[in-house]
Amino acid sequence: MAHCVVPEAEAILDREFPVLDKGFIRLVDYLGGDERVVQSARVSYGEGTKSYREDAALIDYLLRHRHTSPFEQVILTFHVKLPIFVARQWIRHRTARLNEISGRYSVMKDDFYLPASENVSLQSKDNKQGRSAEPMDKDLSAQVLASLKAGQKKAYADYTELVDEGIARELARVNLPLSLYTEWYWQIDLHNLFHFLELRLDTHAQLEIRLYAEALLDIAKKVAPRCCESFERHISGGVTFSKEEFAELKRRLAGAEGGKNTADGLSGKVLDRFEEKIRSGKQI
Ligand SMILES: Cc1cc2nc3c(=O)[nH]c(=O)nc-3n(C[C@H](O)[C@H](O)[C@H](O)COP(=O)(O)OP(=O)(O)OC[C@H]3O[C@@H](n4cnc5c(N)ncnc54)[C@H](O)[C@@H]3O)c2cc1C
Repeated sequence: MAHCVVPEAEAILDREFPVLDKGFIRLVDYLGGDERVVQSARVSYGEGTKSYREDAALIDYLLRHRHTSPFEQVILTFHVKLPIFVARQWIRHRTARLNEISGRYSVMKDDFYLPASENVSLQSKDNKQGRSAEPMDKDLSAQVLASLKAGQKKAYADYTELVDEGIARELARVNLPLSLYTEWYWQIDLHNLFHFLELRLDTHAQLEIRLYAEALLDIAKKVAPRCCESFERHISGGVTFSKEEFAELKRRLAGAEGGKNTADGLSGKVLDRFEEKIRSGKQI
């Protein structure tokens, strides 16, 4: 089979998709696309590409049934500029290959992340890992931003001073904060990208990495639109139910009333979670 060329992906190669205040994602290269997924899946049955509709249906079938290996045949390489605290979360995804700028070799740039003022929030009261959805007082938000900025300025001034004094760059950098931007090349196949996106597009993920995940999905849509459509239909846009929740769902579909503390239904927090899941269409 010939090399797979996807015109929509060719058109965005090397284009920067801005993320946060100074970050970006660029698609450096890609291998395969929807067509490659179909070709590699059909090899199991010795059949070639069929009609567009049949190919889209095959992709949807594969994704729905978690027949994932054909998606591993599509590979994407990205150049990403991201704050170190986002990189710390990102790097937990082990099924990718990456190469990061070296702070031992290069002098780090004066690039720090400052959140937009509307994204400065108090600690959430009910989610220990998240921000409150309550709007924050504007003066307090300005105060927070000024404090972050002052810390970054001081840290970078100290760093520059140490570098100028001839201190090893690998030591001079150790007090630089998590808001400093770093850069890397990141290569991943489509199956593992979908796993990354499932976790990082989720509302439980931190806003900043979520924004990168959204940009990654926009780019992946150019490379493999049918695959991404099925991913959005069955995975990021779908909801899974536990055994008990599924039993409750069946009970209600059979005409039983929903409500707290029903004899054979869900109760308490489990019921609240289930109802919230139904209401919001999100994994709770
Ligand atoms: C909302 C959120 C909050 C989080 N909070 C924390 C936190 O507080 N502290 C923290 O430390 N982490 C936290 N994490 C990170 C999380 O625990 C995972 O490490 C991260 O999401 C990567 O998931 P993964 O291992 O499935 O992905 P990958 O590393 O990409 O792996 C993909 C899949 O490959 C398989 N796999 C890969 N490597 C191995 C291996 N060595 N052995 C067996 N199977 C393997 C597994 O099936 C895995 O699911 C958080 C993640 C999210 C999304």
